[in-house]
Amino acid sequence: AAPPTLRDVFLAGRAHGDRTFLVYEDDRATFEGFARAVLALAADLIRDGLKPGDRVAIAMRNLPEWPVAFFATILAGGIATPLNAWWTGPELDHGLTDSGAGVAIVDGERWERIAGRRHLYPELRRVLVARAAPDGVEALEGVIGPVAAWGDLPEGGVPEIALDPDGPATLFYTSGTTGRSKGAVGTHRNGACAVLAHPYSLARSLLRRGQALPAPDPAAPQKVSLVSVPFFHVTGCFATLVTGLYRGSRLVLMRRWDLATALGLIERERCTSAGGVPTIAWQLLDGREAGTHDLSSLESISYGGAPAPAELVRRLRAAFPHAVPATGWGMTETSGTFTHHQAEDYVHHPDSCGPPLPVCEARITDPLGAPLAPGEVGDLWVKGPNVVAGYWRRPEDTAATFRDGWLLTGDLARMDREGFVTIVDRAKDMLIRGGENIYCGEVENALHEHPSVVDAAVVAIPHPTLGEEPGAIVALGRGQTASEAELRAFVAERLAAFKVPVRILLHDEILPRNANGKILKSELRKLF
Ligand code: ATP
Ligand code: MG
Repeated sequence: AAPPTLRDVFLAGRAHGDRTFLVYEDDRATFEGFARAVLALAADLIRDGLKPGDRVAIAMRNLPEWPVAFFATILAGGIATPLNAWWTGPELDHGLTDSGAGVAIVDGERWERIAGRRHLYPELRRVLVARAAPDGVEALEGVIGPVAAWGDLPEGGVPEIALDPDGPATLFYTSGTTGRSKGAVGTHRNGACAVLAHPYSLARSLLRRGQALPAPDPAAPQKVSLVSVPFFHVTGCFATLVTGLYRGSRLVLMRRWDLATALGLIERERCTSAGGVPTIAWQLLDGREAGTHDLSSLESISYGGAPAPAELVRRLRAAFPHAVPATGWGMTETSGTFTHHQAEDYVHHPDSCGPPLPVCEARITDPLGAPLAPGEVGDLWVKGPNVVAGYWRRPEDTAATFRDGWLLTGDLARMDREGFVTIVDRAKDMLIRGGENIYCGEVENALHEHPSVVDAAVVAIPHPTLGEEPGAIVALGRGQTASEAELRAFVAERLAAFKVPVRILLHDEILPRNANGKILKSELRKLF
């Protein structure tokens, strides 16, 4: 059999029939209704002239129309190009011009942001607006109808377009934490692999051997996921949406993340999983403590994408003894999850983000590329069927990052003899104080152990002779107090003196983060 494509994932998902797939406010769509909307839009895109490899930009909140636009583009042979819904002005311009999208499918808010700037995107010939399309603008509902009526759409045929398992299917943009956001070109194989990564015992070399996608187990009880991360990042798209479609899960969407709404939805929909990024897991702990909602349906709490201090899993274990804690590490370039870590393994190795998925490999090297011994910190390189082909229209970045079948991640990590990977820092975040390396993550973890601390970030403060010194910004829990001197003494009990932040600023609220849960360190550096 040929290796699977994302069309195979779609067909496997459609087989879940009249189970509920998407829940958003008062809207509910079944798997079959969703599939019909996808086929209607795919047929329309083809009729309109979409050619294989054309980019279709998708810029909207986590509406039920998002997954329709994603799969319709892919079934029509196009490249689904999710844009960050938080982007405005120049960032949105970058996404639309860099991708050269000919079609954009957006929601009303995104339409307002691009309406006056359309002249800047000469390649963009068509915009479909979901929900509240103003007069004279093409409405997505004109093609797929309202969510409630998707099940009544005619049963459209699946487009007979040859899809190459190693051809481009997706173009996701990196978070832009270390520079300008780069487009990562994902193949069908990359996306289909993400599905197998999750029930991960399934994954063992299936994709390497090029076997067809196994059918999901129809008798398995339906999982219900609270989706609190955006679909426009790889975790939301591959680990949640694509995997959920394949396995027949119910996805409960949120207009925006908000703890009170989330708690209400977990209780009402009996969600079995929640999480996303570490910040959300911290907030769920608050929610648990408040005791206002029944959260007993939760079977797992998982998160990744940003550093999670060891303290987090300890607290989750105590507060949610029946929910399996899970974490992982991944990048846009690895189509999401690359290492996976859960349950007792995670509790016993709380600093680690787990071993690579069974079909993936990791190695640690010195700056010249020579392998290091277990436990030594160096550059993390990864390899596997979920690693993308390269960057979109950036041959130099591609050559610098993708080498001999390996991806140089830009993260510093160590790996123990059992294969557990621990991320130490981003290479760009590490600071050097008079020749001594300081990993910001290590200092942040020490601060997190303080009972009053709810958030912490360490950044470099320039110093004329030492080069750099560590400074910290710390947020305390509601009603908690701790002085700068006390926090410094607390870190000094745990780490070498040169790692103790020379200044600690107290911040009133949780630190500013991007949509992926990453602290915006460039903003925080300005505070010193
Ligand atoms: P850009 O590449 O544009 O600068 P970015 O690297 O933040 O942005 P993403 O692809 O969204 O864009 O994020 C990948 C990065 O996220 C990883 O390289 C790593 O630094 C960080 N990361 C992901 N998971 C974890 C984790 N579990 N622990 C620590 N860091 C993580
Ligand atoms: Mg990156």
